[in-house]
Amino acid sequence: MSQHILQGGLREWESPLYREAVSQFDRVADLMGLDANVAERLRVPQRSIVVTFPYRHDDYSEVGSLFGYRVQHLLSMGPTKGGIRFAPDVNLGEVAALAMLMTWKCAIVGLPFGGAKGGVRVDPMTLSSAELQRVTRRYTTEIINFIGPNKDIPAPDMGTDEQVMGWIMDTYSQQVGHTEPAVVTGKPPALGGSVARREATGRGLVSLLPVAAQHAGLQTDGITVAVHGFGNVGRYAALAAHQAGARVVAISDISGGVYNGKGIDVAEAMTWTDLNRSLEGYTGGGDRIGNEELLVLDAEVLLPCATGGVVTDANAGEIKAKLIMEGANGPTTLAADRILGDRGVLIVPDVLANAGGVTVSYFEWVQDLQNYFWSEGEIVGRLREIMSRAFDEVMSVAISHKTDLRTGALIKGIRRVADAKLARGIFP
Ligand code: NAD
Repeated sequence: MSQHILQGGLREWESPLYREAVSQFDRVADLMGLDANVAERLRVPQRSIVVTFPYRHDDYSEVGSLFGYRVQHLLSMGPTKGGIRFAPDVNLGEVAALAMLMTWKCAIVGLPFGGAKGGVRVDPMTLSSAELQRVTRRYTTEIINFIGPNKDIPAPDMGTDEQVMGWIMDTYSQQVGHTEPAVVTGKPPALGGSVARREATGRGLVSLLPVAAQHAGLQTDGITVAVHGFGNVGRYAALAAHQAGARVVAISDISGGVYNGKGIDVAEAMTWTDLNRSLEGYTGGGDRIGNEELLVLDAEVLLPCATGGVVTDANAGEIKAKLIMEGANGPTTLAADRILGDRGVLIVPDVLANAGGVTVSYFEWVQDLQNYFWSEGEIVGRLREIMSRAFDEVMSVAISHKTDLRTGALIKGIRRVADAKLARGIFP
């Protein structure tokens, strides 16, 4: 009976991404024989907050009005944790799907958090820095009763960065009356941010490259890599891959990309984007290419690090890479996943591959709560250890269930969450 109530309720979060997240969950829940009552609770987020709010344009005659969201998928594991994205197409369903993914991700790497996600439907490229600050501070104020070091801890995601986290931390601290660094992670080190957080997602991803390449039957020395997206995740993944001896032959961002078979000077490309805000006009001694071309070009490894839904049934058959490591959240549709699996392409799924970001965020939160800060060496060492252990555990679940890494990872994460929910019972 209650199942019917919630099934009808799924339309609250209606979006293609949420539908995919739920059908992926349902498939794995069936495979695991998950308790039906627990499964029903996990298909829907526990809290969804929708706010609308005004902000002043720099030209004081105009006032903009925006939608903001914060979704907390699961409150049973500890505080919730997840990024905030500023993008023109953000909606409640997308945020809910990403919050659910965060729950599995935290459980897969063994962090004491449930999943959350937030967003503001705005194109940050159209805002001045002052406007961005006003939007951030007002959005924070709107959701202030729902966030906090023991409630819900935001972090950067698409379109937000260290500075945005700094403004959130300041707004929160002003309103509670004392400095509270542990309310967000991914903030500047000067405010209690962790060293190495900025690079963590890309570095964590690339720390799995040798072991994943081995499973894909690839030699790691001089392995060729194409990176889709050159923001926080993509640029540091490209840099880490380059530093680890891989040949980064292609990079791209929203403005298009570059191919250079001899290898791209990643540090130079980073400097270019710092100065120009995008890769537009950059050639790096190679040729300009489009994003679609990058996804299917002749590189052994593809790192989709930009956005969701870019590897689809329309291009999965053309992809030449033998190994895909998902830096972005949800870059591969379910249909593409099946096609690539049939073609023998190894996919290291988002919930495992990009978990380095939330892992170092967890380190940052712990350091802030203790007011005791670790060295970069300690952080990177612990990050590598957690990523490598999670990969091995996921691989062994996948092997024992005779399934792919995505399913193995989800089984591992969902099982941990289900055990906790069953152990807590129901109040009252
Ligand atoms: P970002 O805003 O810093 O960078 C996004 C990059 O992708 C930019 O270079 C942008 O130009 C490019 N891009 C956007 N849309 C594109 C498109 N359609 N085609 C090609 N390029 C496009 O964002 P980010 O923080 O690097 O996040 C990227 C992805 O990684 C998101 O899916 C995010 O959820 C996920 N992620 C981020 C983190 C993190 O720590 N930042 C952690 C885990 C997962």
